[in-house]
Amino acid sequence: MSFFDQESHRKAGKVFCGECRHFEPGFTAKGVGFCALTKSRTVLVRETNRNVPDRQGLPPDPNPDSGYPVCFPMAPRMCTKFELAK
Ligand code: SF4
Repeated sequence: MSFFDQESHRKAGKVFCGECRHFEPGFTAKGVGFCALTKSRTVLVRETNRNVPDRQGLPPDPNPDSGYPVCFPMAPRMCTKFELAK
């Protein structure tokens, strides 16, 4: 199976950030982009009672088994937050 065999990936439950309505393209056509869901996400650290940046622009799920740690428009990944762009 080739890397760009998108149909095979879709059958395996994989999606592509580049087709997601949450994806914000980077500066180059096939480069890294951003996930709008986490772009300004923060998390409260109880010990300090402060909000700190949390995966800003990166995929929401940090699980390494779910794909790449960044958003590539044409790289297959598992993502429960994927929504097809119209
Ligand atoms: S990480 Fe998920 S929600 Fe974010 S752009 Fe990619 S597919 Fe969409």
